[in-house]
Amino acid sequence: MSNVREFKTESKQLLNLMINSIYTHKEIFLRELISNASDALDKYNYLALTDERLSKDVELKIELILNKDQKTITIKDNGIGMTEEDLVENLGTIAKSGSKAFIEKLKENSQNTVDIIGQFGVGFYSAFMVASKVVVNSKSPFSESGYIWESTGESTYNIEKSNKVDHGTEVILYLRDDEEEDEAISQYLDEYEIKSLVKKYSDYVRYPIMMDSSKEVPVEGKEDQYETVVENETINSMVPIWKKSKSEITDEELNEFYKHQYHDFENPIKVIHTNVEGTLNYNALIFIPTKAPYDLYSDKYEKGLQLYSKGVFIQDKCKELVPDYLRFIKGLVDSPDLSLNISREILQHNKQLSKIASNLEKKIKNELERMLANEREKYVEFFKTYGVNLKYGLYDQYGAKKDLLKDLVLFISSHSKEYTTLKEYVSRMKENQEFIYYASGNSIEQIDKLPQMELLKDKEFEVLYFTDDIDEFAIGVLMDYEGKKFKSISQGDLDLQSKEEKKELEDKAKEHKDLLQFIQENLKDKVSEVKLSSRLKDSAVCLVSKEGISFEMERVLAAMPGGNNAMKAQKVLEINPKHNLFIALENLYERDKDSVKDYAGLLYSQALLIEGFTLDDPIAFSNKMCDLMIKSSK
Ligand code: ADP
Repeated sequence: MSNVREFKTESKQLLNLMINSIYTHKEIFLRELISNASDALDKYNYLALTDERLSKDVELKIELILNKDQKTITIKDNGIGMTEEDLVENLGTIAKSGSKAFIEKLKENSQNTVDIIGQFGVGFYSAFMVASKVVVNSKSPFSESGYIWESTGESTYNIEKSNKVDHGTEVILYLRDDEEEDEAISQYLDEYEIKSLVKKYSDYVRYPIMMDSSKEVPVEGKEDQYETVVENETINSMVPIWKKSKSEITDEELNEFYKHQYHDFENPIKVIHTNVEGTLNYNALIFIPTKAPYDLYSDKYEKGLQLYSKGVFIQDKCKELVPDYLRFIKGLVDSPDLSLNISREILQHNKQLSKIASNLEKKIKNELERMLANEREKYVEFFKTYGVNLKYGLYDQYGAKKDLLKDLVLFISSHSKEYTTLKEYVSRMKENQEFIYYASGNSIEQIDKLPQMELLKDKEFEVLYFTDDIDEFAIGVLMDYEGKKFKSISQGDLDLQSKEEKKELEDKAKEHKDLLQFIQENLKDKVSEVKLSSRLKDSAVCLVSKEGISFEMERVLAAMPGGNNAMKAQKVLEINPKHNLFIALENLYERDKDSVKDYAGLLYSQALLIEGFTLDDPIAFSNKMCDLMIKSSK
């Protein structure tokens, strides 16, 4: 009987692909083979619990053997091994879902193989990315003899009996020649390279990964002479920091881990460590950097958490685990419930993954709330750095997250010029106060000087300062807080007068109807209404917008791509009927209508300047002012 056998069709396709791969992450072969070895050790461990035939006194381990002369890498384990049938079944066929899905994807999309390979763990076959020949010498504890499986990755493989006596598997890779490759394959014969790959991908595998490492040590008695000694050492740390219980790790260790793993110089502002056991099992370690990542707001920034399964690294930036508004968090999730060979496509629809994601979101929210309650200063620092993201979260998805986030957002308030929560604002509201008032502008100083603030200050109503572009939009989605509606001090009717005051204003407006109409006529291209103001105390005029689009929104919308045609706010010029200027206008209207025309233009320009707008024609404004000065000096 010939020992030469044919690969199944799908395997052939995959092999071809691996051999001709221009995939840049060839290094993952090591992760895949170590992960297989670790699984085989798991299986042995598990079976040994119940099967008398298996010794429990085995020190389960993985060994890596580098042979520079023969250019081989061997990955050896003393796990469950494979029988002859297993070898045919497992290494001659692609029965595994990951590989199968991979092939299917490949058929759909033949151009983009490079991208696709990167998305899958393709297991054993990845060995052919770096090896021209692969030999697997394996023995199952249940079979008499060991078997050698051998293939050069062409259409056939060979199986023969071997004289292996101990259970387990040795995978021997005969590395390809560098000349044929676009990448130096021989680097994988370098101890340091292998060590760093193990650190990167398999550090937390729970069995020891042993390798002979050469070390320079001083020769005894001869101080300045060194000799090379070879030590068989464990090169993985085995216990991931996130698997340790909280009492076992210090803050110091967590901070060091963070800085090393996520390349930061500063300690994180917050560490969240959680171990969850039950129907869903996972460990997560989440960090909030003290300073926002420098590229956080660039297109290139990728949000996400690292994903591990049983200590084996799967993915660097699993974005499904992080909602957009938390894009600044760093960290990782390790869950045995996720299988290693799942594609990112499958991950997206993975129920466990989305459950973990929503648990983590709640956990982070709770931790932030705790920080707000117990470490106010720290939270304010956090909010100064990331608050915009949280407000964006309120606004995003039509407010789907508003209940989660409404108590985490802060605004500076006129109450003490400090950050306040909405809850705190509402708790300070006056008995007769119906609304939560806010005012938008570039800075607190500018907002404070707005004429519209006068009446609110007078009535001692607190005002929130909105200085971020997103503020009005976020509040627009929130609509109200604990039943209290939000109201801009620069929009619509403030509705702060008594019945008598209202009546008085109406009468006055009637009385001066002609004057107001005259001014409006002269400003008809600029404002949609001119009216007497109920919100001004000391100032002569102000500009407000009607309900709907506010000035702030107009500005933000106009700054967006294609913003030229963005919606505009409807401007209303309000004149203070109690101001001396209004009395002067009244008098002038009787004698000198032309001057009133000029004054109308000037008033409008002033109101624009107060609101922080620029004038269309500052020269004309300045000339008019000069004329007026000259006139008044005559
Ligand atoms: P996967 O690991 O996703 O199952 P692989 O192609 O990596 O896919 O491996 C196929 C099968 O070969 C494994 O499921 C396992 O049964 C077997 N196998 C691979 N490596 C080993 C090993 N070191 N010891 C025992 N069995 C192994």
